[in-house]
Amino acid sequence: MDSGGYNESPGDKGSLTEDQERVVTMDLQELIAEIIAFRDERDWAQFHTPQNLGMALGIEAAELQQEMLWKTDAEVTELVASRSGHGQLSDEIADVLIYSLLFCDAAGVDPVSAIRKKLKKNGEKYPVEQSKGSAKKYTELG
Ligand SMILES: [Mg+2]
Repeated sequence: MDSGGYNESPGDKGSLTEDQERVVTMDLQELIAEIIAFRDERDWAQFHTPQNLGMALGIEAAELQQEMLWKTDAEVTELVASRSGHGQLSDEIADVLIYSLLFCDAAGVDPVSAIRKKLKKNGEKYPVEQSKGSAKKYTELG
C-alpha cells in the first residue's frame, strides 16, 4: 500500500523518518525564504507587524469562507472539483498559509515546533478512545 511517504511501522504510524523529516523541514525553510524575499523586494517588512499580519490572516481566512458562503455541501463539493473553483480556493488558502508563515516569522514562532506542541496538547484533550468519530468538544467528552 502506498504510504504517501510516511513511515507506517508499528507503533510509529504516520510519522516521518528522520531523512523525510529533514527534507520537509528544508522545503518549509526554502518556502519561508521565498516568501520573505518576495516581501523584502517590495520593502513591506515595515508593515508586517504581528498585529497587522494577524489581521491579514483573519481577512484571508474570511475570503476563503466567502468562496463557500451560502452554498450547500453539494455545491462546495462541485466547487472543489471544478477547475476554476479549485483555483479560487487554492489562491485563498495560499494567502492564509503565507500570512500564517509571515506571522510566525514576525512573532518568532517556529511553525513546525508550534504545530507539534499543539498536536500534543490536542491529543491530551482529545484521547482517541473518547473522541474517535465524535465531533464533541473536549469539555463534553468522557
Ligand atoms: Mg485573498
